[in-house]
Amino acid sequence: MERVLDPQRSAVIIVGAGPAGISTALFLAKKGIRSTLIEKETFPRDKICGDGLSGWVVSMVRRINPELLRKLQSLPDQLPSHGVRFFAPNMKSVALPYRNAKYPNEPPGYVIRRIDFDRLLMEEAGKNPLIEVIQGVTIANFEYGEHGVVLSDITGKLCYTASMCVIATGSGSKLARLVIPGKKDYKRQATGIRQYYEGITGFHEGNFVDFYFLNEFLPGYMWVFPLPDGRANVGAGIRTDILKKRKLSLKLVVEQALIHKPHLAERFKHAHPVSGIAARDLPLGSKKVKLSGNRVLLTGDAGFLIDPFTGEGVGNAMWSGFAAAEHIENALAANRFDAAFNKKYDRFVYKKLWKELRLSAWIQRLINYPKLFNWVMNKVVAHPDLQHSLIRMIDDLGERRKLTRLSFYIKLLSRNGTT
Ligand SMILES: Cc1cc2nc3c(=O)[nH]c(=O)nc-3n(C[C@H](O)[C@H](O)[C@H](O)COP(=O)(O)OP(=O)(O)OC[C@H]3O[C@@H](n4cnc5c(N)ncnc54)[C@H](O)[C@@H]3O)c2cc1C
Repeated sequence: MERVLDPQRSAVIIVGAGPAGISTALFLAKKGIRSTLIEKETFPRDKICGDGLSGWVVSMVRRINPELLRKLQSLPDQLPSHGVRFFAPNMKSVALPYRNAKYPNEPPGYVIRRIDFDRLLMEEAGKNPLIEVIQGVTIANFEYGEHGVVLSDITGKLCYTASMCVIATGSGSKLARLVIPGKKDYKRQATGIRQYYEGITGFHEGNFVDFYFLNEFLPGYMWVFPLPDGRANVGAGIRTDILKKRKLSLKLVVEQALIHKPHLAERFKHAHPVSGIAARDLPLGSKKVKLSGNRVLLTGDAGFLIDPFTGEGVGNAMWSGFAAAEHIENALAANRFDAAFNKKYDRFVYKKLWKELRLSAWIQRLINYPKLFNWVMNKVVAHPDLQHSLIRMIDDLGERRKLTRLSFYIKLLSRNGTT
């Protein structure tokens, strides 16, 4: 059965209802543009994630609708988070509060299970008259027909035709590979696991998210993020090529750390898992990829937009949804959906995100040198003024760029520290 979408109703199909896909639909709706959002699962659905929402995500939610942010803030499922703690391999820690200069009375970040956050976004899409939501349909392929791009489902029975298609199908997307051909590159991918726990102690009073850098696991790290009701998201992630080369088991890395690192063993003394372990890939934005083709745009993880250092992808996924909506508005106005025109979308996305992604890829490489990383961390732990610099670096790209300058390390060398 072919269903040609009436351009008056919906000229745009979005495949995948994660933060990237839903944001695309919501930003299009803000412009008065109809879209059809097709999702293979039925909501609420789980998504393997650390569940940490940075200030970048908060600002995107606000940009969609300040009322939506208020709904997020009033959910019992969220925990406001005011900063980050880094634990060096020697378990010395540095606590860095997030700055929130623009909205000082609001929490700068949140931790919320993705099943709850994505449901909030999906409810917002579901009640918007300009968004048609279709759930339980897996799109398997797209090709070109007389009226536009034709998407077919895995049963081969359903077909949808539209002027433009947005692929927002997340990591490991077969549809995205039709746009970005070539072999898998494990250097551009991380593997992560996540498990929910109850009973962990020792959280920061501001619900800071905790990152543990373990000597034997660098450049990967473990995380412990607090959730409401005494629960927590515990996980570990590392670049997939390194995981394979060292034949690591992420499950074992976490198990061993909880036994052999006295600080972690103490925090987990009365803790127990309340879910199984789940694993998923993270497509890292450490190299530019093709983000569009004839009548097709890629957003979020499908376009490799995860920060290579922090592993955060929700904010960039939502921003790419915004960028796709901006581009589609121009494409509809110009009646141009061809690959050459769509290149403007690639340029728009990378103009905004590339500097930060490239810098994060650079920092990720720095962590590859454990001795250098330990040395920097120990210096920071020993010097409060350096901690202030790092706080500024968290939300100021210009400040963060100092990490790539030799002068930064010479200044570190000139300090009398404990190391
Ligand atoms: C272990 C781990 C920890 C992470 N921790 C964090 C964190 O703390 N903070 C953070 O910001 N980011 C984190 N990330 C990254 C973050 O999860 C992703 O960047 C984010 O989910 C990307 O959103 P998306 O909309 O592009 O894709 P997704 O959220 O994956 O959504 C894709 C959607 O498409 C649907 N879909 C897939 N294929 C099809 C198809 N063929 N047809 C129809 N529908 C389809 C899926 O069911 C899904 O609903 C983590 C990732 C991992 C793996």
